[in-house]
Amino acid sequence: MKKVTESQPAVVLKPGREKPVLRRHPWLFSGAIDGVRGDPGLGDSVRVLSTGGEFLGWASYSPKSQIRARIWSWEEKETIGPDLFRSRIKASIAKREKLPGEGNARRIIYGESDGLPGLIVDQYGEHLVAQVLSAGIERWREQIFGALDHAVNPRSIYERSDVEVRKLEGLEEQTGLILGSSPPELVEVEESSRRYLVDLRRGHKTGFYLDQRNNRTGIQDLAEGKEVLDCFSYSGGFSVAALQGGAREVTLIDTSADALELAGKNMALNDLAGREINYLESDVFAELRTMRDRANSYGMIILDPPKFAPTSSHAQRAARGYKDINLWAFKLLKPGGVLVTFSCSGGIDRAFFQKIVADAALDAGVSGQIIHQLWQAPDHPLGLNYPESGYLKGFVVRVE
Ligand code: SAH
Repeated sequence: MKKVTESQPAVVLKPGREKPVLRRHPWLFSGAIDGVRGDPGLGDSVRVLSTGGEFLGWASYSPKSQIRARIWSWEEKETIGPDLFRSRIKASIAKREKLPGEGNARRIIYGESDGLPGLIVDQYGEHLVAQVLSAGIERWREQIFGALDHAVNPRSIYERSDVEVRKLEGLEEQTGLILGSSPPELVEVEESSRRYLVDLRRGHKTGFYLDQRNNRTGIQDLAEGKEVLDCFSYSGGFSVAALQGGAREVTLIDTSADALELAGKNMALNDLAGREINYLESDVFAELRTMRDRANSYGMIILDPPKFAPTSSHAQRAARGYKDINLWAFKLLKPGGVLVTFSCSGGIDRAFFQKIVADAALDAGVSGQIIHQLWQAPDHPLGLNYPESGYLKGFVVRVE
């Protein structure tokens, strides 16, 4: 083993805390670190050393974050710099090219799962949208965006680092054009038979919920002849799919007037504007109760709420929110109908979510079976040793 001098930037772990690193988990929490050598700045590369001085990995250092370092590589011979970024970006894109599914919108880089901790890049046709969520990516942003430009040759790279988690890294929120010419107000994308307009500048996340792609197709396959209630509809991703799949009518509920307006444009884009569509600018929690009072009923209800529990400390409170909407949805389903229910909360795992849904059905006096388990699309792959990357879980429950 090479000798590591005292002055080379390094983090030294507390005794016995090397296990997650050896298991290739990419995060080092501040509590596992015994000391820091040298004087690494925000995003600088450091060696990760065991108490005994054994090399464990190269990481980017983030002095203020609980996630004090994120591992770039477990190979000592690797140099952290432009060559590494170029090859990782190329590899990420190549992996996606082999995935099934037609369309021109996809996630091309999914952070830790693709060996680029804290970098998200979504492709919408000729445009890329990026989120920089870690000090390490911020430190190398010019080289990384240069490499992305070279690999994809997009018309634009637009930044949407307007997310709270940047603060935890000691970074300000940031948005704007990084490279190329300004993207249009709305970018049109294709996904199998469906077309959508995406607002790259102001839309949620990077503009659209690419993680739900396969689930849109799943809903399309189940919707024939049904009255569909699309709760937390955003821009109508699921509603377009349901109507293309032969839904008799759809009702979209969202508190955002802008989201519903964009949903209307998406209907027109898919030649669906003449179909039976209701838009309700309303709170789902309240609206489901009102619908029950009116004795409405549906053949398919979709629940895709925002994240109620970002971390496990919010889990109990979030569980009450999930239980509530699932319970009221079960009460509104026709016999033989299906509930398509999601949680994107990192703080609630699949087993817990299943229990919440089961409890909701019991309380609603409904019995049913899970006929499909749903996940995030495969361009959002789960790192085998990084379970935090798997956040989206869902069930299709058919009621009796
Ligand atoms: N199903 C959508 C994504 C949903 S994101 C898709 O596949 O594209 C969550 C949405 O819920 C957002 O559009 C947000 O405006 C909306 N929302 C948040 N809280 C709400 C509430 N209490 N009632 C209705 N809509 C709500």
